[in-house]
Parts: sequence; C-alpha cells; structure tokens
Amino acid sequence: MKDKIIQKLITEETKRQNNTLNLIASENSTSKDVREALASVFTNKYAEGYPGARYYGGNAVADKLEALTQARALTLFGLSPKKWSVNVQPYSGSPANLAVLLALVPAGEKIMGMSLAMGGHLTHGHKVSVTGKLWQQVPYGVNKKTERIDYEEVLEIARREQPRIIIAGATAYSRIVDFKKMRAIADAAHAYLMVDMSHFAGLVAGGVYPSPFAYADVVTTTVHKTLRGPRAALIFARKFEIRNPKSETNQKFKTRNSKPTIASAIDKAVFPGLQGGPHMNAITAVAVALKEAGSPTFKKYAAQIVKNTRALAGELARLNWRIISGGTDTHLFLMDTISQGVGGGEASDMLETAGIIVNKNTIPFDERKPTDPSGIRIGTAALTTRGMKEKEMKVIATLIDAVLKKKMKPAEAEKKIAMLCKKFPLR
Ligand SMILES: *Cc1c(COP(=O)(O)O)cnc(C)c1O
Repeated sequence: MKDKIIQKLITEETKRQNNTLNLIASENSTSKDVREALASVFTNKYAEGYPGARYYGGNAVADKLEALTQARALTLFGLSPKKWSVNVQPYSGSPANLAVLLALVPAGEKIMGMSLAMGGHLTHGHKVSVTGKLWQQVPYGVNKKTERIDYEEVLEIARREQPRIIIAGATAYSRIVDFKKMRAIADAAHAYLMVDMSHFAGLVAGGVYPSPFAYADVVTTTVHKTLRGPRAALIFARKFEIRNPKSETNQKFKTRNSKPTIASAIDKAVFPGLQGGPHMNAITAVAVALKEAGSPTFKKYAAQIVKNTRALAGELARLNWRIISGGTDTHLFLMDTISQGVGGGEASDMLETAGIIVNKNTIPFDERKPTDPSGIRIGTAALTTRGMKEKEMKVIATLIDAVLKKKMKPAEAEKKIAMLCKKFPLR
C-alpha cells in the first residue's frame, strides 16, 4: 500500500487482533476469501434497484452476483423461494431492522421488543434509537429469579398493549428463545413476529440453535457475528399479503398490478425508502460467507462454539463467578462481576491490560448505570474460529479469574496470553 500511515495502522491492528484473546460476543474473524471479496472491484459499482430493475447501466454482472447471494441465503436456511424472499442489501443490522419497521408499522404505533437493559438491542425500540422515537416501545424483559424470558409475562404484556409487531432475539441473552411460544403470543395480539437472529444466525446455520423460520413472518440478521461474514445484514420475509391494509404506511406500498406482500414492502423500505446504492463488495463477501456457512466444517465450528462457551462459563462458575441464568445455550453469557466487588467497566479494563478483550454489560435488574454496569459479556465465536477448544477455555477462565481477583500481575497474564495466541494464529 502506498499510504504508509494507513498501512502502519493496519499492521498494528493485525498485531493487536493476533496477540489478544477476543471474547467480544458480537465479533468474529473472517476468512481470507471474505476479505478478498470485500476488497474486490465490486466496490466500484453503483447498483441502485434490484436484479433486473436497476437505475444504472453496467449491472449485468452485479445482477448475477446479487441473485446468487439471495439464492445462497435461502439455501443456507432451507427456505423455498416460493414462500420466502430475502433482501441482501442492508448496510448493517440497524438499518435492516429499521427497514422492517418502516415497512410494517405505521409511525407512532407500538412495537414490542426486549428492553436494552435486559439484553435487547437498541433498534428494538429503545428511546435513544430512532426506532424508539418513531414508534412506541412496549418492552419485555426476563424473570428476576430465573433470568430467562417469562413467556406468560410476555403474553400478558402483548395482550394488554396490542403491539403491531413483536421482536424476538437479543444481543445479551444466553438462552434459546422459544419461537413457537413467541408465535403464539404474536397471534394472540394479532401482531407480526419478527426474529432478529443477528447474534445466533451462525448457530442456526450450523444446526445447534432452533431455526426461527417455521414461526416468524420476518427474520433479520447481521452477517458479521456468528455467521462470520462481512459487516452487512439480511432480511428474510414471507411472501404473504400485508395485514392491516387500511393503514397509511401499507397503502403507500400498494401498486396497481400486484397486491403488496410483506416482502415487497420491505424491499421498498430498504430501497428507495432508506438506502441508496447497495455495497456490492459487501454483498460479494456475504455470498462467500454464506457458502462457507453451509459447509460441514462450519457445522463442526458451530457445535464447538457452544461447547466452548459452556466450558468457559462452567469453569468461571466453579471459580465462584455468578453466571446470569446459571449458564448458557449459545455462543455467549453474562457474568456478574459486581458480586465479587468489581464493576463491569473496571473488569473490562483490567482484562484488557492483560490482553483479554470483553465488553462491560448490564445484567438483568442492574442497579448501576449502563455506562458502568454490573457485569461483562463474554462470547467464544472468535476464539473458536482460531481453533481453541475446551482445554484452552479452562486456561482462559483461570486467567480471567486470576486477573480479576488480582492473584496474578497483568504483565504475567499477558505473557501467558501471548503464548496461547501464538499457538492459534488468526486466519
Ligand atoms: C448487532 C445487532 C444489531 C445491529 O447490527 P449493526 O450491524 O451493529 O447495526 C441488531 N440486532 C441485534 C440483536 C444485534 O445483536
């Protein structure tokens, strides 16, 4: 690269990623093929519109690429193109979720999502997000005792509030969501059911987390978390007619010849509603990632993630750390640090000086501020990509424990971590 200053920063970041243990639950490390696709000439192309209906010339190849990406997305999750459509253009998870809401819920109406403080995502209607300004969030959380979703309570709230859409899926919830129950709740409230599987999409693809497609009307996902692709998102929508045809938003999507389906409404919300030209290089890399995620190696990878998370959480619990809800079914878990006298922010900083990267996180019914919450979130998707297994997880648990309880100097922990990292280089 001619730009030596930027080259230096890239080298520095490569070193950082190689020499630290990445336990950030929303991150992963992509294959060389994914990164090669991202850096391809597709970044030069404007392709506003959809395959076969573009606003710019020169899109013959881009059309083939986008259609192939859509086909791979449907195949990966076992979906028939007769029943499901997929939009591969969202720039990232947040605009994908916004597009769904824009398409299906008139402004000012109610959307039901897990509250941020209990593990939900900002875009599920939190007040600081545009989704909480354009719509009214009806929040649900977890049960104080079990720290799991209480479906009876969710049903009660949905019946009372009658939201237009219910969003299942979260960003800091370690248990399997019961999609069948969420469907029954949505039906009882005459609401759409949207599943945001951003975090666990890779686990669904790998067959170690139940698929939401039998129950959801719409499924959104980021591609860059457990799915191990580039930063991008997908929206899957059932091809059935839109409900509440009298509402203003839905009227807008009515065309003369065809009745609007939720899929066509969502396509229009993505473009031209919300976005301009799709990032064709990102879509190229999405296609690569989707093929990788359909391979037998990826199945093993997904299964290993869950084994690793259980091993790490289990060992930390044995060392007397309180794991939220008592364990995990997925790639992540929350750990209460304040019960051992360490704030979440402080814990994250202490671990970082030793080379262990996590994020501070609120725990359910947190009594401290979100800027300095009571716990940390830990995920194993990135380390599993590097080839680490249960044995390494036990070592890492011991190191986390030693650093947080100040039984080991950060410099000593750092040395041990550097040695471990060397054995498992990044791809
Ligand atoms: C990460 C995430 C998003 C948002 O994705 P961005 O790409 O960061 O915009 C949305 N929903 C959930 C549940 C997520 O975990």
